[in-house]
Amino acid sequence: MSSDVETLLRAPTAYAIARRAIAAMEQHRVWPTPGNFEVWIHYVAHKDGPLAAEIDQMLEAGEAFTDAVGEQLAAKYLPKAKLNGEILDAGDALAQELDSVSRAIESARETSEAYGQQLATASKSLENEDTSGIKEMVETLTSATRRVQRENRTLETQLADTTAEVGRLKEHLELVRRDALTDGLTHLANRKAFDEALEKACSEAEASGQTLTLAVLDIDHFKSFNDTWGHQTGDQVIRYVASVIGRAGRSPRIAARYGGEEFALIFPGETGETARAVLEDIREEVSSRVLKRRSTNEDLGAITVSAGFAERGPGETTAGLVERADAALYASKRGGRNRTTAADPVAKAA
Ligand code: GH3
Ligand code: MG
Ligand code: MG
Repeated sequence: MSSDVETLLRAPTAYAIARRAIAAMEQHRVWPTPGNFEVWIHYVAHKDGPLAAEIDQMLEAGEAFTDAVGEQLAAKYLPKAKLNGEILDAGDALAQELDSVSRAIESARETSEAYGQQLATASKSLENEDTSGIKEMVETLTSATRRVQRENRTLETQLADTTAEVGRLKEHLELVRRDALTDGLTHLANRKAFDEALEKACSEAEASGQTLTLAVLDIDHFKSFNDTWGHQTGDQVIRYVASVIGRAGRSPRIAARYGGEEFALIFPGETGETARAVLEDIREEVSSRVLKRRSTNEDLGAITVSAGFAERGPGETTAGLVERADAALYASKRGGRNRTTAADPVAKAA
C-alpha cells in the first residue's frame, strides 16, 4: 500500500491529495505532526482501504484522533511510517509553479488585449468601405478575442483562490516541519535537529577557522528519582531542567534534548571557558532550586546535573567532538556528579 501512495504523491493529483489530507485533519482536530500527516495521506488516498475504514469507524463512534491513535494506526497499517522530505518541500515547489503559471497568464492576457485592440482599429477603418465580407470576419475575430479575455479573467480569479490555498498549505507544512525538529516534551531542538545543527556548526567552524564548543548535560540519579516520584513528576523535572538550559542556549547557541534526561548545548564561535561558565550557572541554578510536586505541593528536594564540554580541535570530526564531550560528562559522573568537566584535548597523531 505504501508504494502506490508514493506513486500517487508524485502524480499530478499529489497536491490535491495533500490538501484534502490537511483539510480532513483540521476538520477532525488532528495535529499535523509528520506521523499523523502520513496516516491521513493514506486515509484520503485510499478511502476504501482498511485504514480509512478503521478511522471512519472511530470518528463515527466519536473517538478523538490523538497522536497515540495515529501511532497505533501507522504501526498497524503503514510499513515503516516515514514522511518523505519531498512532501515537506511540496509547498515551496507548488508556490514556484503557481508563480510561473501566474506570469504566463498575465502575459497571455496582455497579448490578447493588444491583439483585440488591433482588431478593433482594423474594424473601424473598414467601416465605411464596401468590404462587408472582411468586416464580418474581423468582427467574429474580435468577439472571439473578447471571449478569450473573459476566460483569462476567470482563470485569474481561480488562480488567486488557489494561491491563497497554497499559502495555507505552506503554513501547515511549516508547522509539520517544525514539529519534526522539536522535542514534544521540552520544546527544545530534538535529536534530529541537534545532529543537523552540529554537523552544520562543525563544517562552518572548519571553513572559517572559528572556535566551536559542544557541551552535554545529564540529570544525576534520575532513575531513582523516577522510581521514587513517578514518571510524570520525572517529566516535570525534565521540562524544568530544559527550561534552564533553553534560556542559556538562545541563538546563536543551540539547546537540544539529546536523549531521555540528556541535553546538549552547541556554542558556535565560543571557547570552552565561556561554555564552562554557562554550564556552571546552569548547574548552580538547578541544584539550588527546591522542587515541588505540582499536584500535591510535596517537597521533592533538589536535583543535580553533571556536564562535560569539549572545544573543537582543528579538523576534528563531529563524531570525535561528541565522543570527547561524552567522555568529559562521564568523568563528571565518576568524579561524584553535580560538576562540570573539560574534555581532554584532541589526541595528537604520533
Ligand atoms: P546517572 O547519574 O548516572 O546519570 O544516573 P541515572 O539514573 O540518571 O542514569 P540512567 O541513564 O541509568 O537512567 C536514566 C533514567 O532516566 C532512566 C529513565 O527512567 C529516565 N528517563 C529517561 N527518559 C525519560 C523521560 O522522558 N521521562 C522520565 N520521567 N524519565 C525518563
Ligand atoms: Mg543518562
Ligand atoms: Mg542521568
